[in-house]
Amino acid sequence: MKKALLLLLTILLLVSCSEPIRQDRLLMGTNCSISVFAKSDEERIQECFDILSSIEKRISAKLSESEISKINKAAGKESVRVSEETFKLIKRSVELHKLTKGAFNPLIGKITALWNIGSGDEKVPEKAEIEFLVTHAREGEIVLDEANQTVYLTDEYTSLDLGAIGKGYASDVLSAFLEKEGVSKALINLGGNVYAVGKKSKKANWKIGLRNPDGNGLFTTVEIEDGAVVTSGAYERYFIQDGVKYHHIMDPDTGYPVNLDLTSVSIICEDATLADALSTAVFVLGKEEGIKLLTELGVNAVLLTRDKEIIKL
Ligand code: AMP
Ligand code: MG
Repeated sequence: MKKALLLLLTILLLVSCSEPIRQDRLLMGTNCSISVFAKSDEERIQECFDILSSIEKRISAKLSESEISKINKAAGKESVRVSEETFKLIKRSVELHKLTKGAFNPLIGKITALWNIGSGDEKVPEKAEIEFLVTHAREGEIVLDEANQTVYLTDEYTSLDLGAIGKGYASDVLSAFLEKEGVSKALINLGGNVYAVGKKSKKANWKIGLRNPDGNGLFTTVEIEDGAVVTSGAYERYFIQDGVKYHHIMDPDTGYPVNLDLTSVSIICEDATLADALSTAVFVLGKEEGIKLLTELGVNAVLLTRDKEIIKL
């Protein structure tokens, strides 16, 4: 009897240890949730939220005191000295711009600000204004001075928007922090962009569900072990005018929301910043060009087309 009770207690303890300890916060304009699986790791959750909040204060183009806003205000006028972390991220964004053949364009800020999608007060901007800003976003440059750690935007009609890589970057920072702190198992979910730290169990990988763009449950699941699944979809933020839906992912060549054949793009990879840039870029490039780029880079992905074809790479 005693033995049976002991066994039951041990089983209960094992079950409770594998239950996630989860907390949620509204940060970076989205719901962020962190789960750990050991009671001793619970304190790390608050530290993760503190890190997220400090990242947001540094890189949000919407906060007027952020380092990105300071660079944007000085566009066409002068260079701005920034923290080492922000400098590295902007440098990375320049590399990712090249890697994605311009589909991810960090200088798209004036265009996204003009559309202001997600503000609740949107309307389609003037065509001439969009075209003017598209030319500037294409021709403007980001000048980086490594020695002085300064950033200079050459064109006053451009501004930085790192929204397409911000959540991926933040989850890379958090996963590195958790690993450094000895947390062997955790789940980071920043508005649907997931980073799984460690393995789920000895036998099983993490199963991450991918949301159906029409809001009806999941269209598939992917299995991962220690890495990110980052998704871009036209359903995340949008508004409707005269029966037409305008979403938040812009074609840098036109300045209008991308009108292509993909409705959801998920990138599966250890480097979440890369995954985030690619999720946006593949969405912009569309099925054919997107598959070409992903194959060239050897990166895994799940694409959903408008006619509901699921492509797993
Ligand atoms: P994501 O959800 O990662 O695809 O990022 C979308 C966000 O990135 C948008 O809300 C914009 O702020 C910004 N964005 C939209 N289109 C682009 C683009 N072509 N290149 C870079 N950033 C973009
Ligand atoms: Mg992205």
